[in-house]
Amino acid sequence: MTRVTVWNEYHVEQEHADAREVYPEGIHTAIADGLDEHGFETQTATLDEPEHGLTEDVLDDTDVLTWWGHDKHDAVADEVVERVHERVLDGMGLLVLHSGHFSKIFKRLMGTSCDLKWREEGELERLWVVEPGHPIAAGLPESFEVPEAEMYGERFDVPAPETLVFNSWFEGGETFRSGCCYRRGSGRLFYFRPGHETYPIYRQSEIRRVLANAVEWAAPVDGPKPNYGNWNS
Ligand code: ZN
Repeated sequence: MTRVTVWNEYHVEQEHADAREVYPEGIHTAIADGLDEHGFETQTATLDEPEHGLTEDVLDDTDVLTWWGHDKHDAVADEVVERVHERVLDGMGLLVLHSGHFSKIFKRLMGTSCDLKWREEGELERLWVVEPGHPIAAGLPESFEVPEAEMYGERFDVPAPETLVFNSWFEGGETFRSGCCYRRGSGRLFYFRPGHETYPIYRQSEIRRVLANAVEWAAPVDGPKPNYGNWNS
C-alpha cells in the first residue's frame, strides 16, 4: 500500500481565526482524511516538530510526500530541504500544494522563481481537465468549480510542465496552469494549485480525488538503479 506523509507548516491555522475556523485541526488533518478515504496509509508532519517531522526514519516510510506551506518557507532548514530533494531524485513522489509554490523544495526542483500573481477575494474558480486520459484526471468531469478561491494568475514562473493536467479560469478573467506534472531524477512531482487556508477546499470531493489520483501517479516504481561513472562491464 502506498504510504503518504502529509507535511504542513501549520501556523496560519493556529494564528488566524478565519483559517482556524475552516481547519480547526490543521490543513494536514483534512488532507490526510481525504487520502484515508481513498485507502492510503497516511501520517502527518509539521514545521515545529524536530527536523520538521521529516526525519530519515519518516522518509524511509514515505512513498509520497505532500507539501503545504504558506509564509514560513524560510523557516524550513536547508538540511531538511536537501534530504527531501535527495529522496525525490531517488524516486519519492512529491505533491506541492497551493502556496507551496514558494517553498524551498519546489523552487529548488524547478530552478525558477516560481512567482505568480494573486488576489484574495473569494472568487469562483473553474478547473478544466486538459489531459482527460491522464491518471490524475481519472473519475473527474470535464470541468469542476471551486466556489470560493484565492486567485492565482499567469504568469506562473515555472518550467513548462511535462504534462499539464488542469487549467484554471477565475471569475476576474485570469487563467493559471493549475495541475503541472514533472519528473526529477527517478521522482515524480505534481503541483496542484487550489487549497487556500480560509476555504474548505480540502474537504471538496473533486479535490480529494485529484490528490488521491496524484498520489497514485507519483508513487515510486520499482525500476533499476542506474550505474554511473567509469563503467567496466
Ligand atoms: Zn493562499
